[in-house]
Formats: sequence, C-alpha cells, structure tokens
Amino acid sequence: MTIKVLAMGAHPDDMELEAGGTLAKFAKKGYDVYLLILTSGGYTDMTGKSYTDNQLKEEAKKASEILGVKEVIFFDYVTTNLPNSGEIISRVDKIVDEIRPDIFISHHPFDSHQDHKAAADIMFAVSRQGRVKNVLSGSTLPYRPNVFAFRPQFFVDISETLEIKLKAIRSYQSQYNKFGSEVLIDRVKAMAITHGWATGYDYAECFEVIRMDESIWV
Ligand SMILES: [Zn+2]
Repeated sequence: MTIKVLAMGAHPDDMELEAGGTLAKFAKKGYDVYLLILTSGGYTDMTGKSYTDNQLKEEAKKASEILGVKEVIFFDYVTTNLPNSGEIISRVDKIVDEIRPDIFISHHPFDSHQDHKAAADIMFAVSRQGRVKNVLSGSTLPYRPNVFAFRPQFFVDISETLEIKLKAIRSYQSQYNKFGSEVLIDRVKAMAITHGWATGYDYAECFEVIRMDESIWV
C-alpha cells in the first residue's frame, strides 16, 4: 500500500524550507506526497516590495515538481491573516478525508509567525481522534525568535536529497533573491549540517513529534 504524506504550509516556500529534503526523500521512496498551501502567497514585505499571488503560485508549482510532489493544492486565504476557524478546519478535514495521509507535516505551534501558528493549530485539530497516525511539526527557522521552543526528536537523513531541496528553494526566484540568494542557500545548508551533526548524517532535517505510530516505520 502506498504511503501518503500531506505537507501543509501557511505560505508557498514554507514546506520546502522546513521539510524539502524529507519530502523529496519520501517521493523518491515512492510515497505519494501532497502539498497544501493555505494562503495565496502574495504579500508586501517590510521594505514595501510586493509579490503577487500568481508569481508565488508559479514558483510553488515549479518547486513542487522538483521535489516530486504529486499534487499541490492552494486555499487562497489572505497572507498574515490566516484564520484557525471552524471553516478552514472543515476544509482541511475534507482534504484529509480524500487523501487519508499516513504522515501529516506542518509548522510548529510556537513559531513566531501568526500564520504558521494557525497552521499548526489546524493540523492538530484535523488530526484529532487518531485520524492521522503520524503528525510532525517542522523546524522553526533560526531567525524566528522562539526557536528555543522547538525540541526535535525525529531526524531524517537528507544527504541524498539536499541538492533537490536547494534546487527547489532556488526555484522560488523572488524569495531566493529577497533572502540573499546564495546566502540563503548557505544558511539552509548550515542548518542541515548542524542537524546532521546531532545524528551522524552529513545533512539532516528534524521534526518535533506530535504523534508517531510504529506501523509505517518498522
Ligand atoms: Zn511562512
């Protein structure tokens, strides 16, 4: 039976940064990987530069292809105003009913971005009563102030998929440029080296376990 994975990012590029190597690894293993992006992506940054929905959606599609994602789904909520209401929980419920994922990955509840927090709450609500057996929160990025709340327990060796992850991040041309181009890549790589150091791999990604079921891991 094919293992199914649902990765849910508040914004385009979130899951590539937090779990891109893991998602690419799952895709290579033959798992069906689905990506759900909750906001439409467009926003104006603190310097006043604007990014359009279409630009980010196109970049998201390209990155998903690189990672081997089977399907990318957009929900189009407003960036910075993502609700964690009954309405959105019902919509994600429907996606979970359709896909029936074995593994659900989203953000960490103590991430400093309000949209990421909302996404974590939505994942917990939708995973109630054992509806999803493996629930993981991805790593908050180091520049977020509450990174110390993140306590990883599950490490994934991404030595063979790091380059795919970096290629996916580069394909988000607008965000890649915004975050310093190859400086961003160096930083992502440095994180993977640090997490790999903890577990004896060249490069790793790590997750906080919300729930884990033994049946698909052993
Ligand atoms: Zn984000």
